[in-house]
Amino acid sequence: MQNSQKEGIVISNASELYLGPVSNYEPIYSNEIPDAVVIKNGLIEAIGETSTILSNYSKFDYEIIDCKKKKTVCPGFVDSHTHLVFAGDRSHELRMKIQGKSYLEIAQSGGGIMFSVNKTREASKLELEALALKRLDEMLLHGTTTIEAKSGYGLDAKSEIKILEVIQSVNEKHPIDIVPTFLGCHIKPADYLGNQLEYIESMIQLLPQIKHQNLAEYVDIWTDKGAFSVEESQHFLNESKKMGFKLRVHADELENVGAALMAADLEAVSADHLLFAEAVSASALAQSQVVANLLPATPFVLMLKKYANYQMFKDAGVEVALSSDFNPNCYILDMQSVIGLGSFMMKMLPEEALRAATYGGAKALNRENEIGSLDIGKKADVLILDIPSVASIPYRFGINHTDTVFKDGKIIVKEGRKITN
Ligand SMILES: [Zn+2]
Repeated sequence: MQNSQKEGIVISNASELYLGPVSNYEPIYSNEIPDAVVIKNGLIEAIGETSTILSNYSKFDYEIIDCKKKKTVCPGFVDSHTHLVFAGDRSHELRMKIQGKSYLEIAQSGGGIMFSVNKTREASKLELEALALKRLDEMLLHGTTTIEAKSGYGLDAKSEIKILEVIQSVNEKHPIDIVPTFLGCHIKPADYLGNQLEYIESMIQLLPQIKHQNLAEYVDIWTDKGAFSVEESQHFLNESKKMGFKLRVHADELENVGAALMAADLEAVSADHLLFAEAVSASALAQSQVVANLLPATPFVLMLKKYANYQMFKDAGVEVALSSDFNPNCYILDMQSVIGLGSFMMKMLPEEALRAATYGGAKALNRENEIGSLDIGKKADVLILDIPSVASIPYRFGINHTDTVFKDGKIIVKEGRKITN
């Protein structure tokens, strides 16, 4: 039945249809409450009330998927901050974390980020690809249709390029669209023998090759206490900008070091984490139209009390994105859980959290004209969720509600299972 030779697909009778920000769809009547979406040639062709849509399309041969007023329809999730590619599972560290061992103590006992870096350096491209493809499948089954993926667990020239090549290769193999980011300046590796500036220079030297092989659209750097300073970050980001890379920043996660202000100043596309950002940073982000990319799964797994101040960004008029920060220390790749954490830990209304996980994410990747909302002419990346309302996403926490996933108008998940062609 799916992906048949029909002219297109009508999704009808949604119990709730969440469109997100739209500019091409206009209701026919002032009191129209749309509950149907029409898909053709990979794009959204029409939106409206089921009765009107069905009568308009009765003369055509369209497949009809009837949600029977029981299922919610929304855009595919856009996860705009992930560290998709790494080896080195760190589940063994959870006991130490629960027992109150500090980050430093865990690192000294051979764990922490360098554990993942060493395992990633040792892994072959094929091994990393297999890990990444499995994670992408999980993401897809949970309704994610586009992600950003960073390097940053190689931390030397060879391994960083290897990770970016893996990202490029899995992007070709998997239906999820991947936007690649070079995060060679994630941290200064513990085994680097030179100084901080020399390390940054070694990463700057990789930029021409990355550009030439088209391995990354963005560069990223962690600007924070214990990571790279604002001055060092400015140097790296300016050099990258000159070469035509777009910018994003891990900003003010551990302390307010002015990273968000720097991101605004350099017109980065997103500033991410922002736990310690203050009101002045929020206005600067609004002014420069930088997306505040908030990642509540990170403080959650770190067992912190502090989360980013959503209300402050909202009041300042900043576009907010929600993303998973999937990484070896935060093995959360389900955007429905991230929406739940956004609601319960950052007091985002369900529709605000859903907007941040779709349109906000698209904006954080500069793709809001193609994806992130259900609008006429946009890509048909559409979800049917087996829940009566948008509020049920956070309310029924911890359950995968994904029934059907359309990617570019094609059904690739049906009744919660991936369709293998
Ligand atoms: Zn990150």
